[in-house]
Amino acid sequence: MNKKNPRQRSDRVLGMDRDIPRRDFLNGAVMTIGSALLPAGLHSNETKSDELQNQAGYSPPVSTGLRGSHPGSFEIAHSLRDGTFWKDAPAPKQLGEKYDLIIVGGGISGLAAAHFYRERAGVSAKILILENHDDFGGHAKRNEFHLGGGLQLLNGGTMLIDSPTPYSPEAAGLLKKLGIDAAALDKKCSDPDQYRSLGLGAGVFFDRETFGADRLVSRFAAGEENPGDGASFSELQEFLSKAPLSEAVRRDILRIERAKIDYFPGLTSAEKKDRLSRVSYKEFLLNIAQVEPAVIAFYQTRTNGEWGVGIDAEPALDCWALGLPGFQGLHLQPGSAPRMSYSGAGYANGGSARFHFPDGNASIARLLVRSLIPSAVPGNSVEDVVTAPVHYDRLDADVSTIRIRLNSTVVRVRNVESAKAAPEVEVSYASGKQVFSLRAGACVLACWNMAIPSLCPDLPEKQKEALHYLVKVPLVYSSVGLRNWTSFQKLEVSNIHAPGAYWSSVGLNWPVNIGDYRSPRSPEEPILLHMSRAPCKPGLPPREQHKAGRMELLVTPFELFERKIRDQLSRMLAGGGFDAARDIEAITVNRWPHGYGYEYNPLFDPEWPAGQAPHILGRKRFGRIAIANSDSGATAYTDVAMDQAYRAVDELLSLHG
Ligand SMILES: Cc1cc2nc3c(=O)[nH]c(=O)nc-3n(C[C@H](O)[C@H](O)[C@H](O)COP(=O)(O)OP(=O)(O)OC[C@H]3O[C@@H](n4cnc5c(N)ncnc54)[C@H](O)[C@@H]3O)c2cc1C
Repeated sequence: MNKKNPRQRSDRVLGMDRDIPRRDFLNGAVMTIGSALLPAGLHSNETKSDELQNQAGYSPPVSTGLRGSHPGSFEIAHSLRDGTFWKDAPAPKQLGEKYDLIIVGGGISGLAAAHFYRERAGVSAKILILENHDDFGGHAKRNEFHLGGGLQLLNGGTMLIDSPTPYSPEAAGLLKKLGIDAAALDKKCSDPDQYRSLGLGAGVFFDRETFGADRLVSRFAAGEENPGDGASFSELQEFLSKAPLSEAVRRDILRIERAKIDYFPGLTSAEKKDRLSRVSYKEFLLNIAQVEPAVIAFYQTRTNGEWGVGIDAEPALDCWALGLPGFQGLHLQPGSAPRMSYSGAGYANGGSARFHFPDGNASIARLLVRSLIPSAVPGNSVEDVVTAPVHYDRLDADVSTIRIRLNSTVVRVRNVESAKAAPEVEVSYASGKQVFSLRAGACVLACWNMAIPSLCPDLPEKQKEALHYLVKVPLVYSSVGLRNWTSFQKLEVSNIHAPGAYWSSVGLNWPVNIGDYRSPRSPEEPILLHMSRAPCKPGLPPREQHKAGRMELLVTPFELFERKIRDQLSRMLAGGGFDAARDIEAITVNRWPHGYGYEYNPLFDPEWPAGQAPHILGRKRFGRIAIANSDSGATAYTDVAMDQAYRAVDELLSLHG
């Protein structure tokens, strides 16, 4: 034992010293992601051949290390926010390019805005999309690995086509135009029983810091995310008997999961729903169901994945809608209610809650780009897009009417002349150490709404205040390449909920076989693991929790994320023979300090008069500048990103009558 430096020894055990793809390496050469890190010569952008995206081998999805909002993507925006950007910036260089529309943000909303605009304004419409990240798609980010020679994909952010509300005709229509029939693809491509057929199911990892002992307890029906879902009474009893919990806590959890108690006898369903909308799920458990306080730790992070905060900050009513237990004796009528922000309606109009592309909605972004710039993403079917190469050097071609310029942070957008009768919009963007300006007939800001006041200082103060209200939800999704998954097989788990641990959810990549893409079938094969964390500060109001979580993310170095991944996997999977130093082949950490769009929370947000909610005041068109992004729908879903793009484009086109 190395007594002198136990840290070094434990680092070796964890494999921290192993040379795996975790930095930004591409084809053996360092691919410096983000223009802020580039040598000045590469920033000139005077000729298109200087654009990073035009360089041979440019392929951001294969980059590992810190992704999501990667280094180089946000520094300029932060200096703009802090008021320091223009002090150091060179005078903007006027570019001769002229567009009908400039779109700020190349996420689903920005790409959809380009689609809707071209559809209505005509194919000759000249459109430029400016995006500050090194890839298009925004949160719909593709993580691409080549493990053991085979292609493996995972979503670095947006995953599902599902949504709590049915897709609107515009959003459903767009999916249809892209060739996406989620229900048909689900039948053809999903393999929901793969893990179940191997005897794997859900497990819970109790960590020693929270529960006094490290213990992984399996197992329930595969595909069930949470302990209790789909489990029989005796299975649940057996599960609890193995958990490091006191008898009293076990008894209370069993009661919450299975007992049919009406805690509000004599009230109607509507009255009960109203009561539940006024207390958090934590308060419901403690004060209404009267469980032992130690029960809370078991449920605390069950809402983190959906809302980025724990049960201390989520209304019990929304937790009922999400399917959390404890309400079975209340006989609540299915369906929505006043003060209820979540409904389980799903992608009801012909969709599927389950189908997902192997890279999540990044395939939707790829399909959108294919429809806008066909030569950039060759192919012609919804199935072949998954493995299609992307020719990044064709995204910003002179010959194209639609162009996508990456690594370009927009720093100013203004109506030229007065806001009332502005004939043009001037957009300035920074790329590396240079600032460029160009003009367009109109602009859609499909970027994060709370950043818009820094880009558009001319906006009315009331509108800026409204935009600032929309605090986005921070999240981290890590993709971990494993040599094989025999340890999961031995432990009979495919997905693990870890209520108290750093990563609250850990799961083998959901199998899907589409086009030429095949998911691993044998536990001996390499696989990708998805691990997620919602950084937050229980006890504070949600917007404060999101701000604290964002700070945490911005100061967490990759090394710490890696250590937390290795440590937690070692502790969870020890009984299955997992060896972090041997079994981890690659790591990508998708850090999203600005993740989900803010959704109002009836426990903390006021009930605004109709039309006065911050997202509605904030998204008001300003001259020839319209505002999109899922933020402007106050909901964090792909259909909303599309709907808001449609609205923003409609607002601009209606200027022409
Ligand atoms: C981890 C995670 C998981 C999610 N999972 C799902 C899911 O399963 N299903 C679902 O429906 N939704 C999911 N969402 C919600 C997701 O936000 C939306 O579905 C959708 O992808 C949002 O698209 P958008 O275009 O509105 O925003 P974004 O994807 O955020 O795109 C906005 C783009 O604007 C860029 N931008 C910002 N400022 C500037 C600037 N100054 N200059 C240039 N560009 C700028 C941003 O970098 C970004 O790329 C998830 C979100 C996250 C973070």
